Amino acid sequence: MVKKGIMGGTFDPIHLGHLVTAEEVRDYFQLEEVVFVPSARPPHKVGQTITDSEHRYLMAVMATITNPFFQVSRVEMERPGPSYAVDTVRFFREKWGQEIEIYFITGADAFAQIRAWNNPDQLFELSTFVAASRPGYKLVGWEGKYRSRVKTIEVSALAISSSEIRRRVRNKESIKYLVSESVENYINKNGLYAGD
Ligand code: ATP
Ligand code: MG
Repeated sequence: MVKKGIMGGTFDPIHLGHLVTAEEVRDYFQLEEVVFVPSARPPHKVGQTITDSEHRYLMAVMATITNPFFQVSRVEMERPGPSYAVDTVRFFREKWGQEIEIYFITGADAFAQIRAWNNPDQLFELSTFVAASRPGYKLVGWEGKYRSRVKTIEVSALAISSSEIRRRVRNKESIKYLVSESVENYINKNGLYAGD
């Protein structure tokens, strides 16, 4: 069966942790492609300042340009209201049809929150979850009824987070080799994260 991956996130900004995770999952599970879906209005980040989704989308496009298996989707930017993963997976299920196995890729920290997501039951019906070990987050005690729909994978440890990138830019510290060169240039050119 053909498998395709979806990786949702705020990607503020997209960094090498996201890219390495997606690539290792793609390679390991033999996914035909991985679609990055920048979240327009992440429901769990209400009240936090988030960079305009056009900036986040463009950075994701630039960071993934060198990987023929990676795509970026605007689906959550074109949908009004809170960006729920379940709506996105439903969209791709309709687009790709029933013959595709959908792998929804998350880091272990995001996966640990999944019961709090909107309609987790339907999410598990529509897709298989990949919980990628993320430095500092151990996936323990996962006893859900959808256990068989969850795959875990250990990815090369990259202790990078978008919050750390933003903090570094704010403090005028280097972000070289933590994000792609294009993303680094884009951040500098547009003065992103310089002051909050
Ligand atoms: P922030 O620090 O602002 O929360 P983040 O680095 O966690 O940003 P998100 O856009 O919130 O990035 O994460 C999108 C997805 O990528 C989530 O599933 C998250 O668990 C995963 N992820 C983020 N960073 C890593 C990393 N270094 N290794 C593996 N997975 C990661
Ligand atoms: Mg996060």
